[in-house]
Amino acid sequence: MDKEVAVSQSRGLEMHELSTRLFPICRSITGNGVRETLRILSEIIPLGVKEIPTGTKVFDWDVPREWNITDAYIKDADGRRVIDFARSNLHVLNYSVPIHQQVSLEELRKHLYYLEDHPDWIPYRTSYYKEDWGFCVTHNQYKQLNDPAYEVCIASTLEPGSLTYGEYFIPGEVEDEVLISAHVCHPSLANDNLAGLAVVSSLAETLSKRKNYYSYRFLFIPGTIGAIAWLAQNEERVHRIQFGLVASLLGDPGPFTYKRSRRGNTEIDRIAEYVLAKHGERNKVIDFFPYGYDERQFCSPGFNLAVGCLSRTPFGQYPQYHTSADDLDFITPESMEESYDVYLEILSILDQNRFYINTNPKCEPQLGKRGLYSLKGGNNDAKAFQMALLWTLNLASGEYSLLDIAQRSNTDFSVIREAASRLEESGLLKPAGR
Ligand code: ZN
Repeated sequence: MDKEVAVSQSRGLEMHELSTRLFPICRSITGNGVRETLRILSEIIPLGVKEIPTGTKVFDWDVPREWNITDAYIKDADGRRVIDFARSNLHVLNYSVPIHQQVSLEELRKHLYYLEDHPDWIPYRTSYYKEDWGFCVTHNQYKQLNDPAYEVCIASTLEPGSLTYGEYFIPGEVEDEVLISAHVCHPSLANDNLAGLAVVSSLAETLSKRKNYYSYRFLFIPGTIGAIAWLAQNEERVHRIQFGLVASLLGDPGPFTYKRSRRGNTEIDRIAEYVLAKHGERNKVIDFFPYGYDERQFCSPGFNLAVGCLSRTPFGQYPQYHTSADDLDFITPESMEESYDVYLEILSILDQNRFYINTNPKCEPQLGKRGLYSLKGGNNDAKAFQMALLWTLNLASGEYSLLDIAQRSNTDFSVIREAASRLEESGLLKPAGR
């Protein structure tokens, strides 16, 4: 492909290509798979890669041993690899202890996982906090395992090492931060969560190129233990996080679901709800519950941050979830691009939402003498823009934000934002802090 064509490719295709590159890597909560993934992501954004040693105490948890794997198989009596890690890394129970021995079929069956409802799919299973070994197979493969004994081999290591995560910080006008996190611990699963990694890194790249009010912190962390470890090691600066979003499941074609923060009615909750309503009737907003992704840690009572979770179809609500059918065909460039757009719109509104005070609150100011009458703001219809000016003047008493004004006047946020800028330029509005 020539360079021109490559450059003009849409963002959606680029994100899909990144997911395709990351797909074969065998990731887990620790180990080289995460390092390799972060190395690839750092080609897009200058990620800082951090290592927390095994055994480090992080609140009620300990950083676990590092897991790495080179090979795994089940061989029949003829020496044929009937199950082969090289064909799919999902075949190994993730975080399995090493094993290499002959086992009876009866014993082997105790260590096999499969899905009867989807006989050609491999399930994704883990054994992080319990020492075990196992294989995940299709039901059809399971039915063909009829020899009396098999050779099983999992060439893995579970040793002291570290937990690896990636972090990228973009300083803004203020120290207050917006946190965006995505989990980086799943092996060959596309929607969960390579699409999330692709959308978040693309978003970070965009935000790094513009001037932002807030500072933005991006975390690429193993689920649960990564968030716990990050919070434990950064406790003294957690108070700077004003808002956040946990990014997961962003590549499937389903509508969006926003799960509110534990506090439920913070500015980010309201903005996410506003943007989702604009983008489609099928989008849903649900209340917080203490399960799911890393919002569980960010919204634990000792932190109680204004962090919600924005995904497309929620976990467990699509049949491909945690199976080999969550592959590169299940995620689409269009869905990822739309997810990127929705995230960017939420963050843009958050970054621009302000409170203002009308400097001429007694009766309407005369707009004509200030050149504000019959003015077309940007590409807006003159009459609609006039109404936006009047609404903004009327509600700019310091208690309503621009988002409040947009919602109450049923006007797009961007139009109210433009109206406020014009009014501020003419001296009719002044900032009221935030
Ligand atoms: Zn998952």
